[in-house]
Amino acid sequence: MGDKKGFQKYPRELPSKEAANHRIAHFKEFYLPPQKNLLSQQSARCMDCGVPFCHQACPLGNIIPDFNEAVHQGNWKRAYQILSATNNFPEFTGRICPAPCEASCVLNINSDPVTIEYLEKSIIERAFKEGWVQAAKNIDRNGIAVAVVGSGPAGMACADQLNQMGYLVTLYERNDKIGGLLRYGIPDFKLEKNIIDRRIEVMKAGGISMLTSVNVGYDLQGDELLEKYDAVVLTGGATIPRDLPIKGRSLKGVYFAMDFLEQKNRMVAGEVLSEAANIDVADKHVMVIGGGDTGADCVGTAKRLKAKSVTQIELLSKPPTLRKADDLWPNWPMVLRTSSSHEEGCDRQWAMLTKKFVAADGVHLSGIEIVNVTWKKGEHQNHKMVEIPNSKKVIPCERAFLAIGFVHPQKEGLLNQLGLALDQRGNVATQDYRTSVAKVYAAGDMRRGQSLVVWAIAEGRQAAAALHQDFFGKESIRQGAMLAV
Ligand SMILES: Cc1cc2nc3c(=O)[nH]c(=O)nc-3n(C[C@H](O)[C@H](O)[C@H](O)COP(=O)(O)OP(=O)(O)OC[C@H]3O[C@@H](n4cnc5c(N)ncnc54)[C@H](O)[C@@H]3O)c2cc1C
Ligand code: SF4
Repeated sequence: MGDKKGFQKYPRELPSKEAANHRIAHFKEFYLPPQKNLLSQQSARCMDCGVPFCHQACPLGNIIPDFNEAVHQGNWKRAYQILSATNNFPEFTGRICPAPCEASCVLNINSDPVTIEYLEKSIIERAFKEGWVQAAKNIDRNGIAVAVVGSGPAGMACADQLNQMGYLVTLYERNDKIGGLLRYGIPDFKLEKNIIDRRIEVMKAGGISMLTSVNVGYDLQGDELLEKYDAVVLTGGATIPRDLPIKGRSLKGVYFAMDFLEQKNRMVAGEVLSEAANIDVADKHVMVIGGGDTGADCVGTAKRLKAKSVTQIELLSKPPTLRKADDLWPNWPMVLRTSSSHEEGCDRQWAMLTKKFVAADGVHLSGIEIVNVTWKKGEHQNHKMVEIPNSKKVIPCERAFLAIGFVHPQKEGLLNQLGLALDQRGNVATQDYRTSVAKVYAAGDMRRGQSLVVWAIAEGRQAAAALHQDFFGKESIRQGAMLAV
């Protein structure tokens, strides 16, 4: 522990953000350089707890008190070594993780948590700057060929782990570029794509073969895949969006959020769109249906593309700003979250049920009809939605984006060809990442359902560990513990 009184001396502080009205003029990240001494002071706030709840809450098991201490000592290389032992891509989690570690930080009981996520980002950025992030070298190859299908964070982490353990890894992606939702879901203002490209170069130089524009299950059949490789890891994500099949769903102007976000991510990357394909929001009233991360990304993107107004509606009631009495630390708090996109200007409404999409001309969306609802506790402590009488109204809008989650992975094609068992929710069923078909593994959103980047990385690592154990036995995992688990 660098400074016993650090948490008393220094308040939690993060670098300032560019003002909202300036940052919506571009798609770049918008944090300003940190003030002098910020990192040394913020790392000094860590109490090096005997029972570090931050570590327990991190799906990767990041050894947080130790890298905080190393930062405080100015030993950045050591901090990088500690961080990269458990996290393949701190440059992603350091930018876009909701940071369950911070929610569980002991300081968060009665004060503000340590700025763990920002310290993580600072460590990895320093490591890239100093040239410490190097491609894996002199790997003792074991001759076992593995295909990893799907190149989001789960596939990337799995491929990275297996490569370092000596496997001959081919990472397949049906899109034209590697990265999954990191590239085509999450906008640049949260994660600039050069950050992904930088990592891809390191992974390729370390020996991972990456094949893009290959839709496995169509361009390469499931049986060919099993024949060609000794093992297969499926990391294709939960790509089927939840629909809202109400009246007017097929009107022009109603889209899935991902149709909008993918198009705009491609636009920011320099791809040119035809006018007909362009989902134009300039000077339009935009409605985002769904209050989560995907919805917030639609808000920030629509603001940058000069929407006249942006409204985000949510079916559930407005959460409290502070934890309720039965919502206890160190659990993830069920409180109101305000993202940087919300700060940029958005009308947020809660407890609203969308009844139908409306078109004044019968073709183009002109509004959505909603009713207000309340949530009442039912017999079995479950919450029941009740419509409020006479609350029906039409909110004018010309564009509506459905951001109400994803239901399961795509079954047509590869999953059906392999005949994999699915769980009740339609995700790939596994036992410790092993699917119902021998030598086929699954990880990430395809296995656990729609989740988070940090979970995808953790699952990719764990699937690699399960595969390695099947080829080389339990002992091999213990020997390579820092790599594999
Ligand atoms: C808009 C949006 C914003 C989000 N923001 C955040 C955030 O801020 N923080 C956070 O932690 N999480 C966020 N998430 C969630 C997070 O992005 C996902 O949980 C994570 O990306 C899942 O990783 P994955 O590798 O399992 O799948 P994905 O990232 O979905 O990647 C799967 C990849 O597999 C490919 N694929 C699928 N089938 C095949 C096939 N047959 N052949 C070849 N390739 C195939 C797909 O094209 C895709 O590239 C967000 C999600 C969305 C949609
Ligand atoms: S819980 Fe918070 S204060 Fe305690 S070790 Fe973790 S980061 Fe430091």
